[in-house]
Amino acid sequence: MKVMFLNLPNKDRIIRRFCGSYNSRSFLFPPQELLSCASAVKEWNRSEVSVVDAIAEEKDLDSVMGVMDDVKPDMIVTMTGMECFAGDIDTVVSIKNRAPGVKMVAFGYYPSVFPLEVLSNTNIDYIIKGEAELCLSRLIKALESGAKPEGIPGLACRGSDVINPPERIADLDKMPFPDPSMLPANNYREMLLRGPVALIQSARGCPFGCTYCVTSYGRKLVMRSPENIVSEIEYLMGKGYRTFRFTDDTFVIDKARVEKICGLIIRKRLRIRWTCLSRVDTLDRGLLAVMKRSGCRRIYIGVESFSQKVLDYYNKGSKASEILRKIDWVRHAGIQSSGFMMIGAPVETADDMAKNKEGLRRSKLDFVIVSKLTPYPGTPLFDRLKGSMDFKLFPYRNLFKDASYEKKMISIEKELYKAFYWRVNTLFSLCKVMVESPVDFFRTGVLFLKFLVVKDQDKEHPNFI
Ligand code: SF4
Repeated sequence: MKVMFLNLPNKDRIIRRFCGSYNSRSFLFPPQELLSCASAVKEWNRSEVSVVDAIAEEKDLDSVMGVMDDVKPDMIVTMTGMECFAGDIDTVVSIKNRAPGVKMVAFGYYPSVFPLEVLSNTNIDYIIKGEAELCLSRLIKALESGAKPEGIPGLACRGSDVINPPERIADLDKMPFPDPSMLPANNYREMLLRGPVALIQSARGCPFGCTYCVTSYGRKLVMRSPENIVSEIEYLMGKGYRTFRFTDDTFVIDKARVEKICGLIIRKRLRIRWTCLSRVDTLDRGLLAVMKRSGCRRIYIGVESFSQKVLDYYNKGSKASEILRKIDWVRHAGIQSSGFMMIGAPVETADDMAKNKEGLRRSKLDFVIVSKLTPYPGTPLFDRLKGSMDFKLFPYRNLFKDASYEKKMISIEKELYKAFYWRVNTLFSLCKVMVESPVDFFRTGVLFLKFLVVKDQDKEHPNFI
């Protein structure tokens, strides 16, 4: 069977991850979930596989149809994004209308939460709930052998309303490494870091219970072994990569495992640079030193708020009083830090906002990324705020009913950015980044300044990321 994996076209430079989609102004990531599925079915099913990244290749729908005319796939597999869900669904429906004989498979957060609704409102043939590789491989096997696919764990089929619970992959070390040479383009970049970037997922799932979080793979944490992860780094180095992003929801979660991964990188003298995500409370001083020695260049930290009341509201489980000290540790270790802030909790007051501004002013973060709170269906926070939300899946919208909210959030977002970036400390640390990647620095800087001065932001993607 010929299977085409398609990162859907969009007028914007959308990065789709299972747990979110970003209109990225400053970085570009490969469609990793699709790449992982493509590599899995290539190895497990021996399928003839192709990957089209319409975002990186800047292809529109007609160009994608042109590729389809050449490749003639039997099946198209795609992943829908979050804020771009409406456009993604329109594109998928158009493709299926123009090529009705091709089996259409979709996965992603909304298809996982609303599989039957997505099937009944579109012409998609199959929806995969959750982790896609195993389910997709079984679907292809069933179709090739003429067996009925209904009943495959995690699969929703057109014409059937029975969905068995998805099955998590128990041993991630058995997965083939996602092969970036399947990607037709190589213009993928981490924000303000040199060289093409490759993504590595060292674990799936997150055991914490932040109420706003859509946790890509659920609460159960499944980790790859340090040896397997380092083999993947070597494999990717063999393909020319030196810059890596660990895409785990939170990489620094098991200290001993991270220490072992870093130790192997150091012992094998792998000259790489890498970035990862972490919570505040899991940062560890001793571990940071080892991470630095193994090439860690930046940690994206889920700060969210400097107000304990707001952190508790999100069930974040971290202490506001520790944030500045932990960020100091990161700076002291010689690693850049970028803090995620989230504004707009219903309990947030002017006093909490003042704490955020003060916290950012005093912090030794190198960057900050501010976004507004969006409660997503399927999360405890959405259940709590359902009455205040204007949510509809078809056509998609997910906004607070209070129309002034979005406008207010954008102005608060800009205020926080100014509080942080208009400081001598920040400007000084940005000068160091400028030396490393001047072209990216100026490009990102111009876009950022434009974002700060433009009055009406793009409603679909109001955040600067
Ligand atoms: S720690 Fe991060 S990934 Fe885990 S639940 Fe909280 S926000 Fe989600």
